[in-house]
Amino acid sequence: MDRVSELLKNERDGLNKLKNLISDSYDCPLCNNRGWTAEIMNNAVICVECSCVPVRRNIKRVENSGLANVIDKYTLENYKVSSDWQEHIKRTAYEFLEIRKGWFFIAGQSGAGKTHICTGIFNELIQKGYDAKYMLWLDDSYKLKKNDEDADRLREFLKNVQVLYIDDLFKTEKNDIPSQADVKLAMEILNFRYINNKVTLISSEKNISEIFDIDVAIAGRITEMSKGFLINIKNGKEKNYRLKM
Ligand SMILES: [Zn+2]
Repeated sequence: MDRVSELLKNERDGLNKLKNLISDSYDCPLCNNRGWTAEIMNNAVICVECSCVPVRRNIKRVENSGLANVIDKYTLENYKVSSDWQEHIKRTAYEFLEIRKGWFFIAGQSGAGKTHICTGIFNELIQKGYDAKYMLWLDDSYKLKKNDEDADRLREFLKNVQVLYIDDLFKTEKNDIPSQADVKLAMEILNFRYINNKVTLISSEKNISEIFDIDVAIAGRITEMSKGFLINIKNGKEKNYRLKM
């Protein structure tokens, strides 16, 4: 072995001895948590990104998404199908994942599996590399209506994030009619996402007709953006509106 090759090998091996340059919870035996492995290529030592890096990014996305604690529980795979309407919902979710454009809207009473199906889609999108954020309407709308600096920051984030999942849109504390402030807030976020064509998942206990009664403009945008992906579960049956606008 010539002198140059020997130096290169020493340099490579020295680099590959480094450990734990990344400090997160994931442990990778391939790179010893450097995030790369040193290799010799064209008479030079180069660092090649390790396969754990995208995995770590996905873990980080899950942690930042707001759904880290339930995301493994509600997968599309384990969404139970025991009737035609559930079969249809599951198929529609997979169809949505294929195109990954527009909005997915599902309405129905609590316990109808809305959260499961939306969380399943949400998780798949994160695994595909999307940045996604969960918004629980009742809690987050309360924070957002405070109009302080935190609210401004959160509002801008929810408008801009690649994938937004709004859970229980227009749910109110005592099942009152949503206030003008609620409508204004929903319009600001949804209209921005409508204009900028951003992937949005929405679940609600209110069906689309009820949302039309609350605000025509919001319901119109949901209907237009969720074409083919607008689902209403009623008394254990599913009715797909597929409205033509
Ligand atoms: Zn690695």
